[in-house]
Amino acid sequence: MRFDILTIFPNIFDSYLEESIIKRAIQAEKIEIHVHDIRTFSKERHHKVDAPPFGGGPGMLMMAQPIYDCIRAVKKLNKGPVLYMSPRGTMLTQAKAEKLYKQCSKPAKKGAKKAGIILLCGRYEGIDQRVIDLAVDEELSIGKYVLTGGELPAMVVMDVLSRFVPGVLGEEASMEEESFSKALKGKKEYPHFTQPRVFKGESVPDVLLSGHHAKIKQWRQDHLQ
Ligand code: SAM
Repeated sequence: MRFDILTIFPNIFDSYLEESIIKRAIQAEKIEIHVHDIRTFSKERHHKVDAPPFGGGPGMLMMAQPIYDCIRAVKKLNKGPVLYMSPRGTMLTQAKAEKLYKQCSKPAKKGAKKAGIILLCGRYEGIDQRVIDLAVDEELSIGKYVLTGGELPAMVVMDVLSRFVPGVLGEEASMEEESFSKALKGKKEYPHFTQPRVFKGESVPDVLLSGHHAKIKQWRQDHLQ
């Protein structure tokens, strides 16, 4: 699956992409992540990307032209939907992530090379509404709070979708029984324990040490939240 991320701070992504599961998924060519610097598309002097809002008010807005041209260029490489990270957007949940994955995991056209998604990161007070109207398929929020930029939300979306890609998680089964999954009836997962058996006077529940699979299964069912 191919991710294209549009941002004015491309370096933010470096460390996250160079660690752990995401790093291995890139190396194994399960996912591809391309980060594009919107600033390089600006036709303004000094590659300016922001301007004050018409009608007044505090802060600056990202101008339409650099973003629009960046989206157009990236759409030649990735036929997936364009999602603008925005606190005003549809709320990201596990169910929404699964829906999005289904939507963008098949190549958009027959014969098209890769499935994908394009993630647009805003900054300042956000972006000119005309970009949203002309070139964005959906606005997506990661929660009811306001962050300084869309880069963390884009990483969240990239991470949650990558987990659906076959082969990204070491053990596919670990995906099945997780919080919000169908296997757990949409509930939150049961508690987990590992070595040692006693930690600061707190013991692991006896049933989990019993080796009795049916009883362990029942205990876990009883402790879904
Ligand atoms: N003025 C905007 C508002 O009140 O809705 C907030 C702009 S915010 C400071 C700057 C950028 O951060 C946004 O354009 C968006 O890309 C991103 N952002 C902030 N909070 C977000 C959230 N909860 N979910 C997704 N993106 C968010």
